[in-house]
Amino acid sequence: MNKKYHRIVFLTGAGISQESGIPTFRSETGLWNNHRVEDVATIEAFYKNPDFVHDFYNQMRKDLINKTPNPAHLALTELQKNFDGEVYIVTQNIDTLHEKANSQNILHMHGQINELVCLNCGKTHTTWGDSSSETTCPFCEREGFIKPNIVFFGEMPLYMDKIETLLKTCDLFVSIGTSGVVYPAAGFVQTAKYYGATTIEINLDMASNNFFFDKHIYGKAGLELPKFIKTLL
Ligand code: NAD
Repeated sequence: MNKKYHRIVFLTGAGISQESGIPTFRSETGLWNNHRVEDVATIEAFYKNPDFVHDFYNQMRKDLINKTPNPAHLALTELQKNFDGEVYIVTQNIDTLHEKANSQNILHMHGQINELVCLNCGKTHTTWGDSSSETTCPFCEREGFIKPNIVFFGEMPLYMDKIETLLKTCDLFVSIGTSGVVYPAAGFVQTAKYYGATTIEINLDMASNNFFFDKHIYGKAGLELPKFIKTLL
């Protein structure tokens, strides 16, 4: 049983899902699934051409529905089951692989692919089906306000109050598979360290905000995370 840590926060990024066959964000071409980020992941793009953006996420939903968790996701679940303390997962990922791995305490700060949000009434609902600018909200019954529940560039990430409290009160912060360039997530390590947490990075290569990590573990998350989790149990 681990005696040193009581509250652990994991921040996960696209790298944790790479071994499940989901491409990461920053390819050398700067494209995301063959599209320019400006065309499919900004709020301006959505207002300008909503059906183009809906179709992009409709396709992504079809791509992601059958993806399965890898040993890194499963290791987090194992830790949550056996750790004598609290374990939270703050994820930038919109895939639902932490849920599919049966993890708990998951905060999807950038939204999730299987949810739609109504810009009229603010309510979200779950679906793996398609959406369009003609989709009707099941709550307020208005048409034309539904948006994929993905946080676009230009929008506020979700659950920030809760995340900030967790960062200030955790005693271990572990970042997995994130390049450290998308804020505010890239700044979480700094907050956690400032408030006294031990900070660890597991990544293929050195993240840009590496100065704030106490320890770096370089390698594939599917190999390195299960080994690291064993040291906590
Ligand atoms: P990123 O693509 O910018 O960076 C990925 C990081 O993971 C890199 O540092 C890379 O070296 C590392 N990496 C790649 N393969 C790895 C592996 N097998 N093991 C460990 N590390 C590995 O990702 P980001 O920092 O998460 O930012 C991307 C943004 O795009 C996020 O906000 C997210 O919402 C979105 N996105 C999500 C998904 C998903 O849901 N799976 C996929 C792509 C992009």
